[in-house]
Amino acid sequence: LVSRKWRVKPTVLDLGDGVTIGEGTLALCAGPCSIESEAQMEKVMNHLVENGVRLMRGGVFKPRSSPYSFRGLGMEGLRLFHSMARERGIKIVTEVMQVSQVEEMHDFVDVFQVGARNTQNFNLLDALGGVDKPVMIKRGISGTIEELLSSAEYVFSGGNEKLILCERGIRTFETASRNTLDLNAVPILKEKSHLPVIVDPSHGIGIREYVPAMALAGVLAGADGIVYETHETPETAASDGQQTLNFDESAKLVRNLRRVFQLR
Ligand code: PEP
Ligand code: MN
Repeated sequence: LVSRKWRVKPTVLDLGDGVTIGEGTLALCAGPCSIESEAQMEKVMNHLVENGVRLMRGGVFKPRSSPYSFRGLGMEGLRLFHSMARERGIKIVTEVMQVSQVEEMHDFVDVFQVGARNTQNFNLLDALGGVDKPVMIKRGISGTIEELLSSAEYVFSGGNEKLILCERGIRTFETASRNTLDLNAVPILKEKSHLPVIVDPSHGIGIREYVPAMALAGVLAGADGIVYETHETPETAASDGQQTLNFDESAKLVRNLRRVFQLR
């Protein structure tokens, strides 16, 4: 069902208020790795509004490698996120980690994010097949392109056709970067599937200085959008500060992404 053989026409998702994801437009989504506080969120949102970025990412349930790391503000953070975003016309992209969260999060999110560690949580995918909100599925940490498409197939076949595929880098033998952003996946996914493809250069390379270059490369490779991490003071971020852009870097990237998109 997610294949071009089944549907030739590219899928375009309409999130309302003039925000669309898919063919012909460049979807920009930015925000902190984690939602930390009302003050932090307000600063990021103002930055996004100033730069015309309509989608904000930010985790309230964080999958952390260590149990001692910050694991997010949970539903309290999401309710705050929701009320602030509504006032500013910002759409919320946030990670759902388990089936029991789908229902409680539902009314507060615009796009459910399935994280790389949950790409093959088939019960979660089944549950998301039953909701009427878009789902962005990240490629598994060691997942193949085919496995990503199979995960999307779970949600689609469950009845939810509002899907976005996200290339966020995979684990390879290379240790110079956090992950290896597989830009090969972009044209391949675009050819195999009618679904929109978004690139996450932040997790893809994991090093702040190199994030803009990989974001621009993602657009030239044919991505329908970019999702990246930004924070007023990346050095103090509760998670992923090392790959997070400050607002100056973020504003410059947005300008350059729009320019590069025009070249396609
Ligand atoms: C994130 O988006 O902050 C995140 C945890 O991403 P991933 O699941 O790709 O590691
Ligand atoms: Mn992160």
